[in-house]
Amino acid sequence: MRIGVVGGGLAGLSAARRALELGADVEVLESAGTVGGLASSIRAGGLTFDLGPHTLYPGDPAVVQDVETLLGTTLRRVSPTRGIWRSGRLYRFPFHLGNFVHVSGVRAAARPVLSYFAARALGTLRPSLTATDLEEWAVRRFGRPLYEFYVLHHVSKNVGVPPSELPALWGRQRIAIPDVGTALRQLSGRAVPSRTSYYPQGGIGRIVAALAVAVRHRGGSVRTGTTMVSWGRTGDEVELRVQTDGRCVVRTLDTVINTGPVDTFLRCADEGTVPSSVHRAAGRLRYRATVFVYLSTDDAAAGLPCDLCYFPQGEVFTRVYSPTGYTGAGAPGSSAGFCLEIHCDPGDGLWNLPDADLGRLTVRDAAALPFFGAAARLRVERVLRIRRHYPLSAPVSPDLTTVDDYMDGASPSVVSAGRLGSHRYVNMDSAMRMGTLAAEVAYGLRAPLDIRRVADDPVFVEDGRRRS
Ligand SMILES: Cc1cc2nc3c(=O)[nH]c(=O)nc-3n(C[C@H](O)[C@H](O)[C@H](O)COP(=O)(O)OP(=O)(O)OC[C@H]3O[C@@H](n4cnc5c(N)ncnc54)[C@H](O)[C@@H]3O)c2cc1C
Repeated sequence: MRIGVVGGGLAGLSAARRALELGADVEVLESAGTVGGLASSIRAGGLTFDLGPHTLYPGDPAVVQDVETLLGTTLRRVSPTRGIWRSGRLYRFPFHLGNFVHVSGVRAAARPVLSYFAARALGTLRPSLTATDLEEWAVRRFGRPLYEFYVLHHVSKNVGVPPSELPALWGRQRIAIPDVGTALRQLSGRAVPSRTSYYPQGGIGRIVAALAVAVRHRGGSVRTGTTMVSWGRTGDEVELRVQTDGRCVVRTLDTVINTGPVDTFLRCADEGTVPSSVHRAAGRLRYRATVFVYLSTDDAAAGLPCDLCYFPQGEVFTRVYSPTGYTGAGAPGSSAGFCLEIHCDPGDGLWNLPDADLGRLTVRDAAALPFFGAAARLRVERVLRIRRHYPLSAPVSPDLTTVDDYMDGASPSVVSAGRLGSHRYVNMDSAMRMGTLAAEVAYGLRAPLDIRRVADDPVFVEDGRRRS
């Protein structure tokens, strides 16, 4: 079987590796100059940065074991510390009851804490109540004051949509709220185990690099600087046209596995291949964008108080991490580096600002905080934009259902998987799992629905446990 894989990120390379195991001839086509996609590392200012504070969560033990086999002892267990900066104070993130009381003071914490216990008691009395949106879901578990403190501003700034407009599934998969037993242990100061994840020495990009080596080792080909520009069907075959070295080349394949944005993939189909209703639905799928501003400084006084910190209030950036923390990437001399994420929508005011202005705004807001040292010593090393990385349309939305239905019908000659390929919020372990399943769909061993199930189960992404 001849399989072409669009995209050399985790999903694409995992698909390629599994397809090779199943006996296919495989070619991976990646438009960027390097493989990696969202799980890439970059060098700037003598430091290794990732696209955001990536660690591999233990949600899918089989994937973790696989990555351990790929990377050996260079894959380390880490427990990044996280905080949220609110009104000049640093709180632990996710919510920790003991820390909340300690930082807020007993008087200020009394009402939110009582509301929390009242909400949990009510939830126990009425377990059958199901929440339809994220606000309802979080208020039922947190009480309103803590929901407003930890969720409302954080989510609205991060995602650009208020929690009342996001599905409850969003919370089940992403927000850690302690049960009463855990909260009481936190309050009494007894230790609660920190969450472990995994990080490869040298940057998160090492995982993708190791996958690319494994693909080539099995006889697959991985071509960077090669963009899929259009595709169409001729009988049982799929014709894929790609742009490489300024030339357009045609590949005739049995199956195309797409891992780039599914709406772009559908837009690239030959006329008459995709019904106009599907085109319209795909065109309405929404994404959040991020601008990454990488800063460095030689000010020895600079340093984050935790490995990554959220800024849900006035700052232009929403999240900052420092690669000198859990990454173990020692900074040369007394220098330090910071990756600041500005979340915005493609085409909005922030997105349209020139790089120099984004750098200036970032330095201005960073300099007003006690973590970045003197403003005059902060250097903007790189500004990087990702137009589409955060799929916003809910899995149950009519537009995504229309796209899913079309893709089901197109399988197994056309299969789409991964974070953007399925238009679903998934992390690295799930993207890899989806890629593996996509190869099995191509061979008729699975249904496309199995790929989507990886994302649509209400499991918490950081530990893979099912959440009600
Ligand atoms: C800021 C940030 C922080 C994150 N933190 C974590 C974390 O801590 N833990 C975790 O597990 N996950 C994290 N994630 C999620 C994780 O990065 C993704 O789930 C995963 O990398 C997605 O892999 P993918 O292969 O599905 O998609 P991608 O990585 O997007 O790969 C798709 C590839 O397709 C290529 N492509 C697109 N169109 C074409 C075309 N026409 N022709 C050829 N190639 C094309 C793209 O260049 C890209 O390389 C984070 C993501 C972000 C953005």
